[in-house]
Amino acid sequence: MKKSPGTTGLIMNEPLLWERGKKGRLGFSLPRRDVESSPIADDLAGEGPDLPDLSEVDVIRHYTRLAQWNFGVDTGMYPLGSCTMKYNPKINEKLSRVPGFAAAHPLLPEYLSRGALKLIHELEGFLAEITGLDAVTLQPAAGAHGELTGMLIMHAYHKSRGSARSKIIVPDTAHGTNPASAALCGYRPVPVKSNEEGILSTEVIAGIMDEDTAGIMVTNPNTLGLFEENIKEIAEVVHAKGGLVYCDGANMNAVMGIADMGKMGVDIMHLNLHKTFSTPHGGGGPGSGPVCVRKLLKPFLPVPRVSEKDGNYSSSSDFPDSIGKVQAFYGNFGILIRAYCYILSMGKDIKKASQLAVLNANYVKEQLKDTFHLPYDRPCMHECVFTDKFQEESRVTTLHMAKRLMDYGFHPPTIYFPLVVHGAIMIEPTETESKEDIDSFIAALKEIAKEARDNPALVREAPQNCKVKKLDETEAARHPCLAG
Ligand SMILES: *Cc1c(COP(=O)(O)O)cnc(C)c1O
Repeated sequence: MKKSPGTTGLIMNEPLLWERGKKGRLGFSLPRRDVESSPIADDLAGEGPDLPDLSEVDVIRHYTRLAQWNFGVDTGMYPLGSCTMKYNPKINEKLSRVPGFAAAHPLLPEYLSRGALKLIHELEGFLAEITGLDAVTLQPAAGAHGELTGMLIMHAYHKSRGSARSKIIVPDTAHGTNPASAALCGYRPVPVKSNEEGILSTEVIAGIMDEDTAGIMVTNPNTLGLFEENIKEIAEVVHAKGGLVYCDGANMNAVMGIADMGKMGVDIMHLNLHKTFSTPHGGGGPGSGPVCVRKLLKPFLPVPRVSEKDGNYSSSSDFPDSIGKVQAFYGNFGILIRAYCYILSMGKDIKKASQLAVLNANYVKEQLKDTFHLPYDRPCMHECVFTDKFQEESRVTTLHMAKRLMDYGFHPPTIYFPLVVHGAIMIEPTETESKEDIDSFIAALKEIAKEARDNPALVREAPQNCKVKKLDETEAARHPCLAG
């Protein structure tokens, strides 16, 4: 195997700045005072905050060293299933910092914000085209926020028809945010099991769909990385009983430019711009979770809404059926710029990104399916799910192997999700990894499986090469040591 990128060589320890500081040390020097000291200065000279005294080089080294403890998609492969940790081209970052955009105040009058309004309007159009739906709001700040917005729209729709429905169908493979968003909106989530192929069966939905059910929330491709092949028939069943189909589109990276969600019967869908459309994510945001809807739901979209007339862009909140505002101004505008640039720079090749994401995931699946148990052995979409069943005998678990991967220099995949798969290892390589990097990831996992057989203690004690060695998880959660 090629030498793995994992190393601890020059990763330095780093004390707190308070431990590093030395009384009287300065990060700058001012000319000696040549005037009398003033009473104001005397006041300021009193008890100040307890800040360490540091030189410039102390501060620079401190933060640079801390940054080296970090792992990100700019450092290496980050195959975290369900999260689409693809590489984000730096040009999108650069363009989001163009001063005309970055410094624009959201309260500027419209005639000074036409460019920003145009970008919003055009991005809505792009997302409508990509999903096959008719109208879009860019306001929600993340995927889960998009789900809540979608649920509010669904609720407003039923209310407008004088029908108060109380339930919503949510498959057992759903992301935890789905039932939570439905419940926040007052709906009771009704769980439904996927079949032995890992997808929903039309008959099961037909059996529970009734006139007290507002609709279904379905993730497609689902969280097992499988395409919900019966979606069109399921949508027909739901529509026949007056319900709506909500699609969690967090996995759109598998089907951009390929699948038309509108034609499949989807009525409402959110996208995660920070997953699919190239925004760095992790660590809590900011994100963006636009919601796309079918024409009949357009009146319920949040306000303000941007419209275009004769090349002029303006915004209005005069939509009496709207669910109102879900976020300040127009949403996280900086993220919208990145997505806009990404889509324009990809053009028709956006389809190729999805094709490569799917190809890479299937490659990983085929290469590893003799090494790890594959619960659903069928072509996958952009991610594949294994389990630790083959390693059970040596008492090596998914968690142990995920930690061991760090010793080999790879960020671990998502583990123990989706919940329906015992000991799940969920790998999403994304389209931006080279074959060489995917191959060394595969080789590392094969090596770990071998270690699990030959020297299980080694795997159980991982990580050992990392900056932070194996932690006592309970102790770490109860008594976190934040000093490093
Ligand atoms: C990531 C994800 C979400 C939640 O999105 P956030 O932006 O983290 O709120 C919802 N559903 C699925 C399937 C996801 O992968």
